[in-house]
Amino acid sequence: MYQDVQLFINGVWKAGASARTIDVVNPATEEVIGRVAHAERADLDEAIDAAQKGFDVWKRMNAYERANIMRRAANLLRERADVIARLMTLEQGKPLAEAKGEAMSAADLIDWFADEGRRAYGRMVPSRILGSYQLVMKEPVGPVAAFSPWNFPINQVVRKLSAALAAGCSIIVKAPEETPAAPAALIRAFADAGVPRGVINLVYGVPAEISEYLVPHPAIRKISFTGSTPVGKHLAELAGRHMKKATMELGGHGPVLVCDDADIDTAAAQLGAFKLRNAGQVCTSPTRFVVARAVFEPFLDKLITAMNKVRVGDGLEDGVTMGPLANERRVRALQGLVDDAISSGGELRMGGKRIGERGYFFEPTVLANVPQSARIMGEEPFGPIAVVNAFDSLDDMIAEANRLPYGLCAFAYTRSAKQAHRIAAEVETGMLTINQIAIAFPEVPFGGVKDSGYGTEGGAEAIDAYLNLKYISQLDI
Ligand code: NAD
Repeated sequence: MYQDVQLFINGVWKAGASARTIDVVNPATEEVIGRVAHAERADLDEAIDAAQKGFDVWKRMNAYERANIMRRAANLLRERADVIARLMTLEQGKPLAEAKGEAMSAADLIDWFADEGRRAYGRMVPSRILGSYQLVMKEPVGPVAAFSPWNFPINQVVRKLSAALAAGCSIIVKAPEETPAAPAALIRAFADAGVPRGVINLVYGVPAEISEYLVPHPAIRKISFTGSTPVGKHLAELAGRHMKKATMELGGHGPVLVCDDADIDTAAAQLGAFKLRNAGQVCTSPTRFVVARAVFEPFLDKLITAMNKVRVGDGLEDGVTMGPLANERRVRALQGLVDDAISSGGELRMGGKRIGERGYFFEPTVLANVPQSARIMGEEPFGPIAVVNAFDSLDDMIAEANRLPYGLCAFAYTRSAKQAHRIAAEVETGMLTINQIAIAFPEVPFGGVKDSGYGTEGGAEAIDAYLNLKYISQLDI
């Protein structure tokens, strides 16, 4: 059922100019399941030209017409969710239920942004001069270049795509080569819903070559990137040099503050499941468990019990709740971090190694009492690894949460309103959940601070990144 994936340029599905392709591998079996077209410079030029022409058409449609098309695309995505989920599981590895959930939540996101586009109001500012009007208008910035990673093949695209379309922008999406079919299915839903040609273009290839060409290109007016902090910093620098607007959704190293008065049963159950979602390959994954010494051992036991409930396997099989890692690079990276943590003096309490020899499966892993000198205390593991350390005071816990340059998502568990307020005020993060895990809904901000990036991909502010302000003053004569 997996078919080769083509580029989508100016409303046409096509091979790249050189007909070169890249293999797509099923991470559960290591088999090549298909190929994705590779864009050359000529393809990128064609995509840029199409995006400019598409922008001229799309920006002239009113927000209500645009919203109607977007809502149609959302409904097509819902109708096709079962088929799309299968493609995603085959190329990315996540369990079918998670993959279907991703497609369904993408449809919600499209609906939400479609409505938000109708509310991109400007304002009238009272003038100091009698008979004069002062308007603040919001206008689409122009063609956008979006770069999205392989961990959520649809969701990482749809946040950028929906906000751009709702604002009236056209877009070139550079989707992940590892997981190309699911984002292509998303874009097909928009095309089938009636988005005019040229408005959405989809390319794959060598990520660095594509970004080095698109980001500085004068036709591109905004970029959005989701991925690692080092790549994000490089692209932000490039965007800055060419005065492009940019949204950067980068890495994290999510601290979890489990206080001495926490409901540790709830905390362990929620965090154990959330930790292993998408095999831990989530930028908002809880990673550093910063636990009050009074509850350290009981919490650790309960977390291990919760993580033991997982069933690892091929995401297509019934009952599997955690699939493989996305690629072999991740297996090697995780093994390196675990080995280093142990040789630095950390204790391995669960898992710690690859499972089997076929497929990129890795055991759910818990490390405890890991010294700060271990690499994993500073590097985002991006996998099913929890690092659990004990602390003597809330001051120390907050200091640990803020120790790293990251600030994407943090979690806290406490029954005390006073401690909760202190954590909310003092932890440096873009997102914080207390006594629950509730993030990433379309209507709330999604983004980080510090090295985790800037801008938001959710909430009412998300569309602003795709709009310019224009001030107009007029005197009636
Ligand atoms: P990587 O840094 O090579 O790639 C991450 C993503 O960025 C990929 O989708 C890749 O195609 C893209 N990319 C890389 N170089 C690029 C460039 N010059 N221009 C444009 N796009 C570029 O790493 P990887 O091995 O694929 O993943 C490892 C790390 O990436 C993880 O440890 C994690 O920190 C980060 N990551 C983060 C997210 C996220 O949701 N924030 C998603 C995937 C990966």
